[in-house]
Amino acid sequence: MLSTIIYRSHLCDAVPIKELEELAKKANKINESFKVTGILLFNGTHFFQVLEGPNDAVLAIYKRICEDSRHHNIVELMRDYAPSRRFGNAGMELFDLREHDKTTVLQAVLDKGTSKYQLTYDDRALQFLRTFVEAREKENYFEIPSTDSWDFIVDENPVLTGNSTHSGVENYRFAFQPIIDPLSRRIVSLEALMRHPDGSSPRGYFAQDTSRDIYETDLKSKKLAFALAKKLGIEGLTLSINLLPGSLVMVPDAVDFLLREIHENGLVPEQIVVEVTENEVISRVEAFDTAIRQLKAAGISLAIDDFGAGSAGLLLLARIQPDKIKIDREIISDVHKSGTKQAIVQAIIKCCSALQISVTAAGIEKA
Ligand code: MN
Repeated sequence: MLSTIIYRSHLCDAVPIKELEELAKKANKINESFKVTGILLFNGTHFFQVLEGPNDAVLAIYKRICEDSRHHNIVELMRDYAPSRRFGNAGMELFDLREHDKTTVLQAVLDKGTSKYQLTYDDRALQFLRTFVEAREKENYFEIPSTDSWDFIVDENPVLTGNSTHSGVENYRFAFQPIIDPLSRRIVSLEALMRHPDGSSPRGYFAQDTSRDIYETDLKSKKLAFALAKKLGIEGLTLSINLLPGSLVMVPDAVDFLLREIHENGLVPEQIVVEVTENEVISRVEAFDTAIRQLKAAGISLAIDDFGAGSAGLLLLARIQPDKIKIDREIISDVHKSGTKQAIVQAIIKCCSALQISVTAAGIEKA
């Protein structure tokens, strides 16, 4: 099976451009021995490479490329399969776009093609190539400093030291996770996450205890979350709590319960964000809408959690506009390496910006 990988990367400042010819020559030999062909474009700052060949070989070569310290911000733009090679000439020469006239450069690149069928613009790989050659979409390149240029300073804030214990009878606890505004470099919010006593997610807790009403337990657990937040002292921060939409809909007077507990713990509704997971919302839409109106009327903000993970994301967004959305961690993890994820995140940001909805990302764990 023929496999295609296309990536874009950024030449490191320390690497002299003179060295590139030599670099390309060496890469050529390796690619040849792996039966990998393609084309390597350079525009003075960025590389753009199409790799084509047997699946395992393409993956092996791409892994080597990703480990090369002479370039950074390596973003995989496309991974696909094809019936035949587009650029099948043995070896892979370096094609410097700067040495060509703007009006003829695209044709010069296409002339390198070896497909027995004419290269067509229906082909995604070719569309990517054209976009790079014509230097479009440049505003979508994230020029992130390399990982070793970041400084991380440990913040000794006691608010963040793990789980708090409580003298209640509940056999669950809460972990408080910080939400950070990267521009002001401050913790702006804490999210109370329900945890099993062993630290694991509450899913297991709910599963093991079927005698209890899951929605009742979910709602009533917030009593402990608010009490712990009060103990931690969260002045100036907002507090996010997670609720199953069913907890707002199935438990009588759910919103009244929340408001009472918020006041009893010296918090204010304007400080509270209720996060709901999108894929749970679909049932009982009208009852859910009513609960949301009550929350908003009381001053509580609404967030859609795990945005992008479920099936109702855009539909839910069309129906109720929350104050915030939190992008699912699966979309965020390794976003720096994936052009696909970057395109999705950019679209989410653009959409939310048009709707004046603020965006939070979950799962940021790497520099
Ligand atoms: Mn959440």
